[in-house]
Amino acid sequence: MNSNKCGWNLELSYSKLPNKFYSKQLPTPVRAPELLLLNERLASELGLDEKMLQDEEGVAILSGNEVPEGADPISQAYAGHQFAHFTMLGDGRAVLLGEQITPNSGRVDIQLKGAGRTPYSRGGDGRAAIGPMLREYIISEAMNGLGIPTTRSLAVVSTGDEILRETRLPGAVLTRVAKSHLRVGTFQYAASFGTIDDVKDLADYAINRHFPHLLNEPDRYSKFLEEVLKSQAELVAKWQLIGFVHGVMNTDNMTISGETIDYGPCAFMDTFDPGTVFSSIDVKGRYAFGNQPYIAGWNVARLAECLIPLLHKDEKEAIDMAQSILSSFPTTYHTYWKKGMRDKLGLFEEHVSDQSLFDGLLKIMHEYKLDYTNTFISLMNNNKEELVMYESDEFQTWLKNWQKRLHDQEQSQMEAYKQMQRSNPAVIPRNHRVEEALEAAAEGNYDVVKKLLEVLKNPYAHSENQKEYQKLSRDGNDDYITYCGT
Ligand code: AMP
Ligand code: MG
Repeated sequence: MNSNKCGWNLELSYSKLPNKFYSKQLPTPVRAPELLLLNERLASELGLDEKMLQDEEGVAILSGNEVPEGADPISQAYAGHQFAHFTMLGDGRAVLLGEQITPNSGRVDIQLKGAGRTPYSRGGDGRAAIGPMLREYIISEAMNGLGIPTTRSLAVVSTGDEILRETRLPGAVLTRVAKSHLRVGTFQYAASFGTIDDVKDLADYAINRHFPHLLNEPDRYSKFLEEVLKSQAELVAKWQLIGFVHGVMNTDNMTISGETIDYGPCAFMDTFDPGTVFSSIDVKGRYAFGNQPYIAGWNVARLAECLIPLLHKDEKEAIDMAQSILSSFPTTYHTYWKKGMRDKLGLFEEHVSDQSLFDGLLKIMHEYKLDYTNTFISLMNNNKEELVMYESDEFQTWLKNWQKRLHDQEQSQMEAYKQMQRSNPAVIPRNHRVEEALEAAAEGNYDVVKKLLEVLKNPYAHSENQKEYQKLSRDGNDDYITYCGT
């Protein structure tokens, strides 16, 4: 353990894994680092001095020009299914400085993304552009505000170097904070390129780090699989409830900790449509909004395959165990989703008609091309003018059913309203707002980004200053496209 003047207190428990799991890797220095954004609240939660982080030495560390005293950075090896095709990957442009031990004894990875080439870079330059790193900062912090488990963003630093994409772009380094960077793809790497002992070491490490209550369980590996399945089902239910499209749910972009990771071609859906795809490369819609729960289950199945040798010494028994666990995914997911939908509609008790009530509303939203987020706000405020659907018989029937449920329950209308406020965000990072902020930043004006971040910190406040951010883009967002790997 070491500490120094910014408050860095880094360890590296991951390096006790066999050395095939990583490569020692220093960040590659950059020409003229400049701090663009710093998450002061997060810094203080991490035990870092937000003033000193802004000093020359602080920024030198956030840019990769210097490493904190005692740190021994690495890049991690992993593999993964990208659009269902298995590949060797690894941190091609990221360096893990270490694990920060926080003032309340937490342990979080501190990773510099865009920190230069590594042994896993393949043809890539190891770098990132300012725009996508600001975008990751905005969306990840918005997710955190929305109460969705996510990696966090501590800082974005411009490098003063240009990188070559379709055009020359200014480079940046993002400091990403995560419970860990263990992925389904890390297990796939161990299972495909290592031994059973490697998979076991990795599983024990993951259990120790994320599910320590399982450490002394005799059947800890099947329990581990169950825990990861539950946390993924819960995470994706949260995405579905809020209208988040991840865009690239490859197995290397799926954490063992249950945090959302890798904000590439992601975006929030405006008009409700299960077929919503924003990613330029997802031509077949594999990662479309409505497909996300299915894909999460598919990804957990890939993890299960890696764990087979640990589940039981008899392979057939092990496969049966894995299948029995995996078969619970749809029900587990739906249980979380339905609970979330009840919250959004101010309902407290489970009812056999829940599913048809929810499906009925979504069908109407789809049919009338309604904005997902704002429909719930209109229902909450009983704001009839806002919605064309109010004129339809179909909706009137739905409304009567819903209102009957509200009247029949023990809880008051006020309690129901409060629950709806807690569960329906007034603001989400709408695509046109994110783009507007990024455009201003490209001109050197960071006020728009900062104002957006401020509003997104507390999306359930339903305050006056959020009204402006509820508006839809005048052009509509139906053809919004996002790009990944940028
Ligand atoms: P992603 O699409 O961000 O999940 O990245 C997929 C893989 O490509 C990971 O192994 C990344 O490290 C790698 N990668 C992405 N961009 C670059 C880059 N500019 N240079 C090197 N590797 C990269
Ligand atoms: Mg990735």
